[in-house]
Amino acid sequence: MASKRDYYEVLGVNKNANADEIKKAFRKLAFQCHPDHNQGEDSEAKFKEINEAYSVLSDDEKRSAYDRFGHAGVDGTFGQGFGQGFGDFGFGGGFGSIFEDFFDAFGGGGGRRSSRRGADLQQKISITFEEAALGCNADIRISRMEQCSNCSGSGSKPGSQTSRCSDCNGSGKVKRVQQSIFGQFTNITSCPKCNGEGNIITDPCPKCKGSGKERKEHNMKLKVPAGIDNGTNLKLNGQGDIGDKGAPPGDLYVAIEVKPHKFFKRDDTNVIYDLSVNFAQAALGTEVDVPTLYGNEKLKVPAGSQSGKIFTLKGKGIPHLRRNAKGDQLVRLIVATPEKLTKEQRKLFEDLEKSFAKGDKN
Ligand SMILES: [Zn+2]
Ligand SMILES: [Zn+2]
Repeated sequence: MASKRDYYEVLGVNKNANADEIKKAFRKLAFQCHPDHNQGEDSEAKFKEINEAYSVLSDDEKRSAYDRFGHAGVDGTFGQGFGQGFGDFGFGGGFGSIFEDFFDAFGGGGGRRSSRRGADLQQKISITFEEAALGCNADIRISRMEQCSNCSGSGSKPGSQTSRCSDCNGSGKVKRVQQSIFGQFTNITSCPKCNGEGNIITDPCPKCKGSGKERKEHNMKLKVPAGIDNGTNLKLNGQGDIGDKGAPPGDLYVAIEVKPHKFFKRDDTNVIYDLSVNFAQAALGTEVDVPTLYGNEKLKVPAGSQSGKIFTLKGKGIPHLRRNAKGDQLVRLIVATPEKLTKEQRKLFEDLEKSFAKGDKN
């Protein structure tokens, strides 16, 4: 992880690059390290790196997660060991599937996509202020495409035979020649007729009608890191819809909504709390119990404290998402004017007023 290069650096663009600049930079680099042009040993790794950078920076949502949290924002580090990040691009089938994106970028695409990656899914969860501040394990229930339980994903009726695909002679692969402004590319790509499987279903599974997939409800636990803020998206690699055979599953994006708190407000990693005291307490000084995320804290309000004064409870705020530190709790003093007075209180205030008036003359 630490050795991972910055995506902007990989594509050689600056942090403010627009979508067009990113696309251009990607095309140029992808062309340079295409295996037809570059037989270097690390060209595949290099291409993978470029493609990974592009897949994040070309997606607004992923890009903003990356900008905020770096690789961890898009790697699923927050998940519980779900998936392997971008580790799996299906290189077994050659560069075909990756290069489809590349060729599509030229507008010349053409090739049918035979093996599709599963769809990405979105889910929203609502957690409390404390859960967001201190972290929690949230329950998630999603409806997603999974392997058909009747045919174990084969798409064939259990016990039935499949027949060999005539287009690829059972190899599952076909040669494809692409023209581009850079010249001719030859790709070995998976056979569109049999979806790269080499055989054709003759008797489809009645449950999934040959797709090998079925929609299922799935429960999972999501480890929400301490310090997460409202509106953050967590990515769970490979937890979206299942892909076609040989293609990776989609990802699951979980949008975090933090419910407002009764009396705490958040400002970055600080917690803001309004403490209301009456005139007498503010004038004479007092000691009060102040609620914090970590239990009650005694706070001394010195005599003569003005409304609006801020007291800082060091380290009683919200943990930083990315480093081992916490914000503070800021206690804002509100000196409340009494709205109703008893007879006795009225008398006392009148006497007080007289006393103040006298004092003013001295
Ligand atoms: Zn089935
Ligand atoms: Zn075939």
